[in-house]
Amino acid sequence: MSNSNSSGTAPSKKNKGTGGDQYICPHCSKKMNKWQVPPFNFSDGLGWCTDHLYICFNDQCVFFKNSWGHMDANYGQSMGYRAMIHPDSKENMAIPAGSVDAMKGNILDEIQEAKDRESIEKRNKAMARLTDAFIAKEIEPIIDILLAGDEWLSVRLKAAQMLGDMKDLRAMDALLNVESEHETIKEQIRKSIKKIHAANYTKECPYCAEVIKQRAKICKHCNKEL
Ligand SMILES: [Zn+2]
Ligand SMILES: [Zn+2]
Repeated sequence: MSNSNSSGTAPSKKNKGTGGDQYICPHCSKKMNKWQVPPFNFSDGLGWCTDHLYICFNDQCVFFKNSWGHMDANYGQSMGYRAMIHPDSKENMAIPAGSVDAMKGNILDEIQEAKDRESIEKRNKAMARLTDAFIAKEIEPIIDILLAGDEWLSVRLKAAQMLGDMKDLRAMDALLNVESEHETIKEQIRKSIKKIHAANYTKECPYCAEVIKQRAKICKHCNKEL
């Protein structure tokens, strides 16, 4: 059945700079959704030979609306089908839909958009936590965020900058031990360490790396002469 409803019109495809492939439904001109093919072959036993298809999920699409009457009249079946484009053949096809909401759980671009929204919300919350801690002069929550590998780069960068601005020597250990692969974060950490040393009249012992007084002649940690 997949091929029998080909409308003959060429599918229109647009390449948007950011979102990758985009297909417009030839029947209703709405953007088609990228849809993940389930791991099992449910339709014709042949499979689609792709991990995703483009499907028109517009419930008002004429193709979808008319499909129910067509299936009922021709096959006596209470089911419909939606417009679908296979990404390899670019052919207009139809994919059976057992109900209005069938298959909607596998819409990839909507899932991705929801994830993006969630992620931005998470970032804003982390930024708010940073600001609160900065105002309250609490370094621990800021260190936690700086050390959290899964935080946004901009958030961790802000955390590194704040620790420098707070000039609190207790942040030194954490700053010295941050493992970051990002050059921007490393650079900000170097700046913040300098700032904290300057404000506290301290420096790093060149032999044992402990924090000591700028004017120390002998390191109190390793007893080396400076
Ligand atoms: Zn449509
Ligand atoms: Zn030392």
